[in-house]
Amino acid sequence: MKFGGTSMGSAERIKVAARLAAEQQAKRPVAVVVSAMSKVTDLLLDTMRHAEAGDRTGMESNLTLLRQRHEDTCRELLPAGEQGAVVAQLHDVVDEFERIVNGMAMLGERPPRSVDEAVAVGERLSVVLLSEYLRSTGVPSVGVNARDVVVTDAAFGNASPLMDPTGVKARQVLAPHLEQGTVPVITGFNGATADGRPTTLGRGGSDFSASILAAALDAAELWIWTDVDGIMSADPRLVPDAQVLDEITYAEAAELAYNGAKVLHPRTLAPLVEKKIPVWSKNSFAPQKPGTKIVPAMAVPQGARAVASMRNVALVSLEAASAEINGVQIMARALDAIARADVEVLVVSSSSYRQNFCVLLREDELDRSVHALESALALELAHNYMHPIEVDRNVGLLAAVGEGMQGKPGLAGRIFTAISRAQVNIIAIAQGSSELTIAVVVRRDGLEKAVKAVHAECGLGNRPPVPVFPFGESEGRAPQRAKSHE
Ligand code: ADP
Ligand code: ASP
Ligand code: MG
Repeated sequence: MKFGGTSMGSAERIKVAARLAAEQQAKRPVAVVVSAMSKVTDLLLDTMRHAEAGDRTGMESNLTLLRQRHEDTCRELLPAGEQGAVVAQLHDVVDEFERIVNGMAMLGERPPRSVDEAVAVGERLSVVLLSEYLRSTGVPSVGVNARDVVVTDAAFGNASPLMDPTGVKARQVLAPHLEQGTVPVITGFNGATADGRPTTLGRGGSDFSASILAAALDAAELWIWTDVDGIMSADPRLVPDAQVLDEITYAEAAELAYNGAKVLHPRTLAPLVEKKIPVWSKNSFAPQKPGTKIVPAMAVPQGARAVASMRNVALVSLEAASAEINGVQIMARALDAIARADVEVLVVSSSSYRQNFCVLLREDELDRSVHALESALALELAHNYMHPIEVDRNVGLLAAVGEGMQGKPGLAGRIFTAISRAQVNIIAIAQGSSELTIAVVVRRDGLEKAVKAVHAECGLGNRPPVPVFPFGESEGRAPQRAKSHE
């Protein structure tokens, strides 16, 4: 079981998490992975920024908030007699964080390795709270720092697990507890290299931690507890009539996550594929609801299932300006430079006629990418063999996802029509980049409207889809489409 930030967000929520874990523990062994309490990771990162800038006052006030929130939660959770020792444990962890940020303040920089060590403190504090609370309610439990279990490469901030050594450690460190009926409560988000350097798995990485450990332990099931009823046909914050999907495939869930659905970390499904471990996405605020089951495959692919979107992206365009070089050469050089900068390309689109192409990147990787492109193509730019690199930040990505979508003739056309009808400009299309996704780059200020329009057009909400025929045909006369997921 994995509990996300909101599910660990207060004493009240931690009590619910403990109850949910204990209920299952009564039936079969349970390992628990926890996130930091909501907003704590942001607070830690902000503290490190203050440290780097030498802003002691900012650091101090964040540290006070951090101590206070965890201490208050602890006092609310535990009987008076047990509070002292646990509060001391919490303060020890914050002291460690304080030492690291003091080092950063002295250096005036944030070395990636120290950032990874420091940012995992949020999860460590959560572990103390949940495992101590479980113990105080009579459920045997032990806190585990995932740096002792999850072995990763050295890509600080975005590490990848090494599954074989992780499996060995999981069997050594976790299996004995599980066999004795003790609930290990493990930090999400972090790990360490084989030689012990601390790493993290990327923002939102506790989902990934949970799936890594589920695979390493050969779990029967993985339950991801969050703050919505499951995986929905769209982000309910953007689309109020989004529906919970009762079942979805690994591939669909992964495509949704990669295209911005925050409900799962994009890499969550990968470790589970081989062992076909089913995942449940469930609401800790409404545990009686069934949630979404994520399964290896579905008998009948159902067409468009959900719409995902990403706001913080930018489109980078490159174009040949001389016959001395062609667009494909530029594309090859540019993609090589981007790959070496370890940046992920979200969409590629090209025109052989205009000898140009564009790539969609995450906004926070933009500066690094443009820098890599400019140095890889410095000569071509200096000699005007190509036009200056153009960057457009006023863009957003929308993706309609579903297995079997390609078997629906006309669906792509309907999606584009729906976006245009919402008066949103389409900038690039990456249809067919994968069989289960149609990705469209639109103007950022129109993104939300476009998501709503596509969601309705695909019949994913409560309301019947708006008819596509624009020529004054009344809704009554428009051919009815089935309301089911088309
Ligand atoms: P946790 O802290 O439990 O990991 P997150 O905030 O990371 O939770 O993810 C849950 C949030 O993901 C939801 O509150 C919801 O706003 C958002 N979300 C985005 N797309 C979807 C979707 N398709 N289905 C469900 N939730 C989504
Ligand atoms: N606490 C980490 C984050 O906010 C990991 C997670 O919650 O999944 O990114
Ligand atoms: Mg999350």
